[in-house]
Amino acid sequence: MSNIPTPKVPADLVLADSAIAAIKTQSNPPVSDAEMMQAVRTLLIGLGEDPDREGLLDTPKRVVKALKFLTQGYNQSLDELLNGAVFHENANEMVLIRDIDLFSSCEHHILPIIGRAHVAYIPDGKVIGLSKIARICDMYSRRLQVQERLTAQIADAIQGLLKPQGVAVVVEATHMCMVMRGVQKPGSWTATSAMKGVFAEDPKTRQEFMSLIRHSPNFH
Ligand SMILES: [Zn+2]
Repeated sequence: MSNIPTPKVPADLVLADSAIAAIKTQSNPPVSDAEMMQAVRTLLIGLGEDPDREGLLDTPKRVVKALKFLTQGYNQSLDELLNGAVFHENANEMVLIRDIDLFSSCEHHILPIIGRAHVAYIPDGKVIGLSKIARICDMYSRRLQVQERLTAQIADAIQGLLKPQGVAVVVEATHMCMVMRGVQKPGSWTATSAMKGVFAEDPKTRQEFMSLIRHSPNFH
């Protein structure tokens, strides 16, 4: 890698991130891990459990650790995530990455959203490392989300970074808050899309993308 020149990170990178980060979070939340663990203990008591029984002794610690892992996207930014992996390239054919696994958490119930993202763009002089697309999906997934916003954030990020001819993002996901509680509809899944540039303007391009991602989702 050392002999590959590192392209300069575009100046609009930080801007792109802050423009889409409509939901601002604190990098140093004023709550300690001990307080968070205490809150989980309170939840256990509220559920009628005995937080001092053997099986639950370490549960508050584990829950806090798990929640922090599942929301680690709050501590990441596009800037550090990309680490300069935007390259100048005269490509103008569709780049598609399909079936990117997504694990997110719904902001209404803090229950899992499990699904896949399909991301395509048509470059206009700039391309991005393919693995970075998956990392962008991960970063926004690992926050408390609604699927619509997650989809839009992925599209906005790629639009802001590459200024491509177009971006298309489709997210297909199943929401545990719908499957395990509420309407209890296992097998239901939700599709959301965000189309920009030529994907929004040209039905043929959009159709090509949609036919490339056609399949039956199967999450269970
Ligand atoms: Zn929910």
